[in-house]
Amino acid sequence: MGATDADSAKKKEMVHSPILTYFSVITLLSTCPPFVILLWYTMVHLDGSLLHTFNYLMEHGFEGFVNIWPKPTAIAWKIIACYGLFEAALQLWLPGKTVEGPISPTGNRPIYKANGVAAYVVTLITYISLWWFGIFNPTVVYDHLGEIYSALIFGSFVFCIFLYIKGHVAPSSTDSGSSGNIIFDFYWGMELYPRIGKNFDIKVFTNCRFGMMSWAVLAVTYCIKQYERDGKVADSMAVSTLLMLVYITKFFWWEAGYWNTMDIAHDRAGFYICWGCLVWVPSIYTSPGMYLVNHPVNLGAQLAISILIAGILCIYINYDCDRQRQEFRRTNGKSLVWGKAPSKIVASYTTTKGETKTSLLLTSGWWGLSRHFHYVPEIMAAFFWTVPALFDNFLPYFYFVFLTILLFDRAKRDDDRCRSKYGKYWKTYCNKVPYRIIPGIY
Ligand code: NDP
Repeated sequence: MGATDADSAKKKEMVHSPILTYFSVITLLSTCPPFVILLWYTMVHLDGSLLHTFNYLMEHGFEGFVNIWPKPTAIAWKIIACYGLFEAALQLWLPGKTVEGPISPTGNRPIYKANGVAAYVVTLITYISLWWFGIFNPTVVYDHLGEIYSALIFGSFVFCIFLYIKGHVAPSSTDSGSSGNIIFDFYWGMELYPRIGKNFDIKVFTNCRFGMMSWAVLAVTYCIKQYERDGKVADSMAVSTLLMLVYITKFFWWEAGYWNTMDIAHDRAGFYICWGCLVWVPSIYTSPGMYLVNHPVNLGAQLAISILIAGILCIYINYDCDRQRQEFRRTNGKSLVWGKAPSKIVASYTTTKGETKTSLLLTSGWWGLSRHFHYVPEIMAAFFWTVPALFDNFLPYFYFVFLTILLFDRAKRDDDRCRSKYGKYWKTYCNKVPYRIIPGIY
């Protein structure tokens, strides 16, 4: 496959119009970094109240905002470097089964080492042991959180420039190419599977081992901070943290499945996905816990347990949706779905090399309710690990609202991509399963 084919394949697979891309680039670049800082400042210093932040900004203007933006200090860089190097070493050296990713648009099949659960367990045990044995106190992370976010914002931007240059001068595979527009290349990325050497997969690092892992590490950090300050952990904090940890455990348990999803198999390594995983996940995804540190609500056993059970149920259903689809594909449509033989569509498509291939589309079970039903329990789970904060402030619900918008946009992007990949077969699927996300409604 020549570079020109790869380039045209890339142009073909771009699902957002140029205007929308320019709009997203400008919006994300200009609003996300300040938002991360404002969110942290509001949570940690202004009681989680948007009104207080608004009043502060009204009173002090732009200069006031510049004053609250923390400098990326040496300690922040040190914490990030130690964490990043530790995770990279675990990714490279912990043992794991070799697994194959899905066939790429140019017909490659990436190979991975599935050692996510081991890395997750080693990370949490190491982190908690460092605290327990008095070697490193996680409250240091909380106390320097603003500086850490500030360093991540700048560091990740530079990292995305590195990805852009690498995509041009040293792509790791034929699944790479330029759209001919520097902004699009930087923003949407150039390489689908960038690697350092043969084995170090950059997207596994940014999305899973740095981003998702930092979520677990920070959730634990917030608990420890509250415990060290108050001598106990409020039940609201315990429920929220437990639910997040169950969700992240599920993620690493299913990590090899994640390598088949849009983030890895379709979205290229650029600012959109990598900056998001390196900055947005550690700051915004963890924000309900960040809020609860200073708002130790007491829910009472009955409410706390009810929220916990409802949240676990949602996480389980979300997992089961992903599992059902992946088992169905893995067994070539032979797995039972809800105890019955699955109903399916055999969809053929043409790769960019011109080869005809087939994929199976599941049309029963969760995948017969709507085409992206799995987003419903995903969104509900986020609600349940936020609701322990009750309703004094809107800000802890920001992640829940953001996720809802993200997944509704993602469902559309995925539908558009599948329509162009499968043509009439996707149309048949849409006729059979007419709702996109919420059965009977949307
Ligand atoms: P999916 O796992 O839904 O994968 C989408 C792909 O699955 C499609 O592109 C298509 O790929 C294939 N597919 C679509 N319909 C069918 C079908 N009926 N039968 C078989 N295969 C089908 O994508 P996501 O990456 O969106 O979601 C993965 C998980 O990650 C979900 O649990 C989701 O909730 C979660 N998630 C969480 C986010 C967060 O920020 N918290 C963000 C995004 C996702 P193909 O080309 O192979 O046919």
